[in-house]
Amino acid sequence: MSQKGKKIPEWCTAAIVQKMYDAVGSAAKERGTRIFSSSRGDIRILYTEAKGSIQVPSESDSKLYKVEIQRQKPKLGTTCNCVAYEIYGPCKHIAAALLALLVECA
Ligand SMILES: [Zn+2]
Repeated sequence: MSQKGKKIPEWCTAAIVQKMYDAVGSAAKERGTRIFSSSRGDIRILYTEAKGSIQVPSESDSKLYKVEIQRQKPKLGTTCNCVAYEIYGPCKHIAAALLALLVECA
């Protein structure tokens, strides 16, 4: 997952990512933790100065979901392109993506 020389943007700090993770509901966290531990190597993170795009594998099929972490002042926002996100908000893919980010930012 980590690439040597990859530049971690300023907004990606353990404190900020932890704060975003804390805002995710407990059910999504639980399922996200499962995704993270079973597919950690398949979670791909791309950074720009303004955002992070994280590909998170589906739990049930070979789909990839795209989680975006946007740098919005004064706070950061997370989105996912799955159906659950549209209905319920922060989903298990976001939780898994944030766990992967925590490893990178730590
Ligand atoms: Zn999702």
